[in-house]
Amino acid sequence: MHRKKIVLLGSTGSIGCSTLKVAADLPSAIEIIGLAAHSNIEKLAAQAKVTGVKHVAIYDESKVEDLRKLLATDVTIYFGAQGLIDISTLTEAETVLVAIVGTAGLKPSLAAIKSGKNLAIASKEILVMAGELVMREAKKYGVHILPVDSEHNAIFQCLQGHSDKHVSRLVITASGGAFRNTSEEELKYVTLAQAMKHPTWNMGRKITIDSSSMFNKGLEMIEAKWLFNIEMDKIDVVIHPQSIIHSMVEFCDGSILAQLSNTDMCFPIQYALTWPSRLKGNMKPLNFPELAKLEFEAPRHNVFPAINLAREAGNIGGTMPAVYNAANEIAVKQFISSSITFTGIWKNVEKAMNAHQSVSASELDSILQADKWARDFTANLF
Ligand code: NDP
Repeated sequence: MHRKKIVLLGSTGSIGCSTLKVAADLPSAIEIIGLAAHSNIEKLAAQAKVTGVKHVAIYDESKVEDLRKLLATDVTIYFGAQGLIDISTLTEAETVLVAIVGTAGLKPSLAAIKSGKNLAIASKEILVMAGELVMREAKKYGVHILPVDSEHNAIFQCLQGHSDKHVSRLVITASGGAFRNTSEEELKYVTLAQAMKHPTWNMGRKITIDSSSMFNKGLEMIEAKWLFNIEMDKIDVVIHPQSIIHSMVEFCDGSILAQLSNTDMCFPIQYALTWPSRLKGNMKPLNFPELAKLEFEAPRHNVFPAINLAREAGNIGGTMPAVYNAANEIAVKQFISSSITFTGIWKNVEKAMNAHQSVSASELDSILQADKWARDFTANLF
């Protein structure tokens, strides 16, 4: 069997570790050839040892010397923003899996596409900010964009063998996050620890807070718009507290296909890395008699405005989604550092969107300018 050669950006994070588990379970199908992280050199070095990779990248340049001491002498170290690009464009790499939190993966992703690599994308922020550009470049260079996010991976699975023109609606499921039943008044006083308690998934810090605020779903709606080339008005969100159905596609004849599995990111990661094949992995299949029930309810738009703000940003288009994303990223940091309350997250995003004049997002410069503007603007709010 051909072993796909994978470069993994964000290897020390939650998705990164699950990817290494998938690769370890399928050694005849997947070969990890490069690893990249921000600053966690101990974990990165341990992963390099286990996988035997000869290429690692570290974003934080001040850690290079210490990292050198932890690695075998035949391992090449790349560093800084350029290091992420260098490792993403290694000649032998076939697919780059991008699991860096935030937007630092954008330039490496574009560089990987240009050098003919397929991209498996977990970092939803990249597609929200620059989906038009990423999808256009992927088409131009003839590479595949493979969704790792569980909802988009579910939709991708449901779409296999179907024509886009028969799709009438995408239904993205949401667990409802930590505050599904919390009142509007109580939301003003919730703590970071409460926002970090996800009912069904075990994930990194930012995405867990985004799930509590429903911004994760907003980001996913815009991500879906670009991945599946569909208008925002055909993308719906339904709350499904058990997180067993990962998303659905409704076709023009009214039939709906859904993808189901236990809440384990190894499922979508494995499918993205083995596509178009399916391989027997090591994940636990669903046991229907053990599932007591599958429930559905409408999102509380009056309490959580993130979904409607995303719809607005996606409909306006241009640089507005980049502003939605960047303002949220800063507002989450403000919430973490206690400079704003939880409800302040969406207040600040709304203020940034209201103050922004959207321009075309077909070029990287305008996207990066809007991203920077939104970060600076939001950082000055409280
Ligand atoms: P984590 O916070 O667990 O991990 C983030 C990873 O990114 C770490 O490896 C970190 O390195 C690395 N990183 C951060 N900044 C840089 C940088 N500038 N250069 C290189 N590496 C960097 O995040 P998650 O794994 O939870 O999420 C990663 C992405 O996947 C996010 O975009 C998220 O939205 C998306 N996603 C996550 C899911 C999940 O289940 N966790 C589900 C679906 C999507 P270090 O450890 O050194 O700081």
